[in-house]
Parts: sequence; C-alpha cells; structure tokens
Amino acid sequence: MEKRLSEAFTEYRRLLRDFQDLLRGDFRRPREEEPPIRIDPPSGAGAALRGGRAGAAWASAGGPLPRSGAGGVSGPAAPGKAAEGHPEAAPRKAGAAEGRGAAALLADLAEEVRVCGLCPLAAGRNRAVPGDGVPEPLILVIGEGPGGEEDLQGLPFVGPAGRYLDKWLEAVGMSRKTDVFITNVVKCRPPGNRDPQPQETAACAPFLERQRDILRPRAVLALGRVAAQTLLGESRGIGALRGTVHRWKGLPLVATYHPSAVLRDPSLRRSVWEDLKRLQELVGPRDLRALPKN
Ligand code: SF4
Repeated sequence: MEKRLSEAFTEYRRLLRDFQDLLRGDFRRPREEEPPIRIDPPSGAGAALRGGRAGAAWASAGGPLPRSGAGGVSGPAAPGKAAEGHPEAAPRKAGAAEGRGAAALLADLAEEVRVCGLCPLAAGRNRAVPGDGVPEPLILVIGEGPGGEEDLQGLPFVGPAGRYLDKWLEAVGMSRKTDVFITNVVKCRPPGNRDPQPQETAACAPFLERQRDILRPRAVLALGRVAAQTLLGESRGIGALRGTVHRWKGLPLVATYHPSAVLRDPSLRRSVWEDLKRLQELVGPRDLRALPKN
C-alpha cells in the first residue's frame, strides 16, 4: 500500500512538472535523473533503522538519543533549546504517507529542526533555521550555517550577505519569493560563526537530504568554501571548486564564493558572475542584468 502510494505520488509530481514546463515552454528537465519521492512509513521498524544509521555519528560521540519530532507550520522556527527529534529517526506524521504536498512536508521538517538536539549546536542557538523559499524551486541555495541575524530571526540569509544574495538572484532573473529555496548545511548557528565541525554536519545532513527530496530543484548553488567542501566531500578551496558544474546526489551543483566574502573583496565579483550565468544556463533562459557591487 505504502509503495503504491509512493509511486502514485511520484507520477503525479512528474505529470505536474511536465505541465508546468510546457506552460513555460521549457521542457528541459532530465526525467531519468529525477529521484522518486520518498514516503517514509509513519512509524515502526523502518524509522528505527533509518535513525540508527543516520544518527550514528553524533550518537556515538555521546549525543542525545533521537526522539520523535512534532508536526507544525512552516516559517521561522521559534526559540527553543529542546533536545528532541531527528531527521531520519523521527516517525513521519501519517499525512506524509498519504501523499501530502511539498509545503506540508517542509513544514513538518521545519518543526523537527526546531526541536532537534542531535548535535552540540542546539545548546547555543536562539532559533534553528530550517530554510526559506518556495516548495518547488528552480534552485536550492545552500550556505554553511546561520549567522547572528539568522539565529535571531530563524530565517536564512537575512543580513547584509542575504540582501546581496537577493541581488545576485535578481541579476539572473530569479527571486527567493518565486524560484529559490535557501538553507544551510547546519541549521543552527555555530558559536562565534566558526566553521561547523564534521560531527555537526554529519548529524544535520539527513535534514538537507530530505529537503532535496521534497524540493527536487533543477540545480544547486553552494555558497562558500564550507558548503562546497561539505557537499562535495572535497578539501580543495572554493577557488578551485568553483568554475565548473559538479554533481551532488544526482543534481547539478555550481559552487561560488559566499556573498559576505564578495562584500569584503569586490574583485571576486567577476568570478561570481561567471558562476551565476553557469547556474542560469542549467535552469533555463532568464533575463540577465549586471551584477551589483553590493
Ligand atoms: S545543527 Fe542540525 S543536527 Fe545540530 S542541533 Fe541543529 S538541526 Fe540538529
């Protein structure tokens, strides 16, 4: 029953996307690379097995045991330091097995992030930052982690770097209101804006993978060294990782400099503009504007 529901929902999403693409006159999505929609069983052995696998890194380091998350609404996560929930271990609500829409699945995931305590970053956060954007985006933008302003608001990229990112998107004919979903490799702020540690990115990775499965973007934009290295499993710097199209979990991925780095060093703008145009080519024709200075 669950398998038939999953197949039916996947087919429904594929037909809907086909129709949307036809309306856009842009029938370019590589169908053979689209992953099936994953509909987890609401509870039971399957959930337990997934939790055991994905939570191993932090659990083995002495972290809290995964417990079930709760459902809720999307948007900024409320303040809290609860130590519950895990992206893989938490039983999905019954609605997920009934073929619910992407927005509802994202809302459930956001609520799990809000109460997550699977890595040490939970202890220092004001608000977790699950992500923000449209449920069927053209691109998934991934940064490294929330900064101070994001931690206070519970939203990603809301400071000066976020406003600059919005201008980048506008320059290639996109907007976070209509075309983009933005998130980070870790959903809670590392203290002092340090790099997230491997055990933290490992604990948080299942959230990002579930977002990818729900959102099914056409391409991914990785912002900055930490995001690019984490997603690609690379140790090279962002200067070496940018300038080409990578693959991440079956999706084309373009890496570029973080907006805050470009605000500090405007000489990076030329490289960013090349990367954004490469991204734009992946998702289809858009009107191009000049990349602003800040
Ligand atoms: S960073 Fe991720 S894994 Fe760590 S507490 Fe926050 S949501 Fe949980």
